[in-house]
Amino acid sequence: MHTDILIIGAGISGITLARKLTAAGRQCIVLDKGRGVGGRMSTRRRDDVRFDHGAQFITVRDQRVQKMFDDLITQGIVREWFRADDTPRYCGTQGMSRIVSALAEGCDVRTGIEAQSLLHDGTVWSVACANGNVFTATTVVSSAPVPQTIGLVDNGHVQLGGQVRTQLEAIVYERCIAALVTCTSPCDVRSISHPDVAYIGDNLDKGISPLPAYTIHATPEFSERMWDADRNEVARCLAQCVFGKDLVGVSDIDVHGWKFSRPITISSATCIHALEHPSLVLIGDAFGGPRVEGAIISALDAAELILGC
Ligand SMILES: Cc1cc2nc3c(=O)[nH]c(=O)nc-3n(C[C@H](O)[C@H](O)[C@H](O)COP(=O)(O)OP(=O)(O)OC[C@H]3O[C@@H](n4cnc5c(N)ncnc54)[C@H](O)[C@@H]3O)c2cc1C
Repeated sequence: MHTDILIIGAGISGITLARKLTAAGRQCIVLDKGRGVGGRMSTRRRDDVRFDHGAQFITVRDQRVQKMFDDLITQGIVREWFRADDTPRYCGTQGMSRIVSALAEGCDVRTGIEAQSLLHDGTVWSVACANGNVFTATTVVSSAPVPQTIGLVDNGHVQLGGQVRTQLEAIVYERCIAALVTCTSPCDVRSISHPDVAYIGDNLDKGISPLPAYTIHATPEFSERMWDADRNEVARCLAQCVFGKDLVGVSDIDVHGWKFSRPITISSATCIHALEHPSLVLIGDAFGGPRVEGAIISALDAAELILGC
């Protein structure tokens, strides 16, 4: 299968870029190894319960991103959740992943396909996938977390320029273990704090879950320390930090580990050409800034770059 532009990753950066390129009439395909789109803007549904278990809210400062969000608000996909320092914090009315799936409409997105290697023959890229598919493309964009992108180019024996490689290897991410806790009745968690807990999200209060559902994000330090421990035990321990030792009112605990939660160090460029010509482009929050808005800015700048070529 050949396409003009192949984008690896259907998170907010990959989809924002695909949307721009598709609108400009360019042929592009997005691949994602996940079951759906969204990446770290993820909403988990289990029976009637819903959890935003990655990004919780979005802050916007860039005019271009504000325009995108104004449109999404008009469509009923996004709403202002709360304000801090008089700045709006936005969320998806049906969860964070719905923002990405709404933006993906009209784009050619193929989920459940994991890219395994990137190979360049001097003219065309070949992207070999775990299911045996091979895609060829004139331009490849990777929005995967940087260590995963490095793995892809290494698997295809692509040489990155010395400076680019050094720059990419300097990008490191913190981890985050998230416990997803269902309760039999609503609990007021607003005043609860614990040294191992970075954030407690109330998905019922947020309006995305019809039943009481709480997202607990461990601190980066706790997540790092407990990464290899039994995940269910770690989640139980996090739930106890919030709901007490006896877990009164807790009916279920699920868990998710974000290995590449947020980049601690980011690149100085909002997107990167990994070769001398822009046929391999790297985008995402490691470039535009370690938040949803940064990932979008990276994609918008990459769109200008690719369309300007
Ligand atoms: C726990 C947590 C809390 C956060 N809280 C906030 C917050 O409140 N506000 C905020 O602004 N930001 C927050 N963030 C950060 C925010 O989620 C990210 O900055 C943003 O979503 C990154 O988008 P992206 O498109 O760059 O990457 P991603 O969303 O990671 O997208 C990359 C995609 O690439 C896919 N992929 C990777 N490798 C392959 C492969 N080999 N083949 C195919 N597909 C592949 C992945 O499946 C993924 O879907 C949080 C993140 C986490 C984890």
